[in-house]
Amino acid sequence: MSRVFNFSAGPATLPEEVLQQARDEMLDWHGAGMSVMEMSHRGKEFISIAEQVEADLRELLAIPGNYGVLFLQGGATSQFAMVPQNLLGDKVCADYVYTGQWSKKAIAEAQKFCRVNVAASSEDRDFTYVPRPETWRLDPASAYVHITSNETIGGVEFHSVPDVGDVPLVADMSSHLLSRPVDVGRYGVIYAGAQKNIGPAGLTIVIIRKDLVGRAPTGIASMADYKTHVESGSMYNTPPTYAIYIAGLVLQWLKRLGGLVAIEKINIAKSQILYQYIDSTNFYQCPVSPEDRSRMNVPFRISEDGLDTQFLARAKQHGLVQLKGHRSVGGMRASIYNAMPIEAVRTLVEFMREFERSHG
Ligand code: PMP
Repeated sequence: MSRVFNFSAGPATLPEEVLQQARDEMLDWHGAGMSVMEMSHRGKEFISIAEQVEADLRELLAIPGNYGVLFLQGGATSQFAMVPQNLLGDKVCADYVYTGQWSKKAIAEAQKFCRVNVAASSEDRDFTYVPRPETWRLDPASAYVHITSNETIGGVEFHSVPDVGDVPLVADMSSHLLSRPVDVGRYGVIYAGAQKNIGPAGLTIVIIRKDLVGRAPTGIASMADYKTHVESGSMYNTPPTYAIYIAGLVLQWLKRLGGLVAIEKINIAKSQILYQYIDSTNFYQCPVSPEDRSRMNVPFRISEDGLDTQFLARAKQHGLVQLKGHRSVGGMRASIYNAMPIEAVRTLVEFMREFERSHG
């Protein structure tokens, strides 16, 4: 067997231990005589898996009791619509902070449901920073404030929670949830697609303060109403059972590592190795302001034009794959989520150094 170091932005690399456990349990989960994939979602075996996943998520993130945890489908993209549909209540406006490609999509979808006030934007510098919260122009009439707390494409991360007063703060944490401790109580809604740091694609996690549930207008589709999912314990219809199970194995792996405080230290160390090397040479450049750089997605460019294709091909020969930057920004991007071992980052830096030596 030979596994590569997979720097994909998502679906992304998973902990090898988790894949091995899934393999071992594939045909017969804990003596049930069947795979988790084959189980009824209403049977006691799967119910026990789902309950454990929720308990572990609550423990890892220290989620307060007045928050619901939902296991949904439809990706973070569905949340772009569900958030306004559910949170506007009798209001007609919402604040959005525009920091890159994913907040752009969230804004475009919200505009179908309400007036969007772009409270701040980093478009002036090509989405390479987080506008300082003191400069945000929030609309007092807004129902909520939406941020994309890690822009997966641009590699821009919020390293502190903005103070938005009493208005619910909503965060798309798709690409950094579980990479660091989060003060959940500061948010109204947190949502994330699982396929980066949590598990396979197909599962979407929503953490919602319970008083925000039940505000959707009558006539909304049942599946689009948070209330439906809170009341049914995410079992209104068939949930993505196998994705939930794998996410559960990832959560147990995280707990064995020492939880979010421990993984944050590792993530800081990993990202520093890469950024320090990039900053030490003129051959590579990271366009993002140092204080807003993502620990999860590290975009970089080669200063000299025309070398990207060669870089990517040579990297692949070294077992370093999926380093191509998103088509909207070009260059390279290394996504180094929780499951990416530190040796992978060291190997990448060694390769980058070697490539520089032969081309710089
Ligand atoms: N938000 C962010 C920050 C993302 O990175 C992504 C996926 N790359 C999405 C939203 C969309 O997620 P999905 O494909 O799960 O709908």
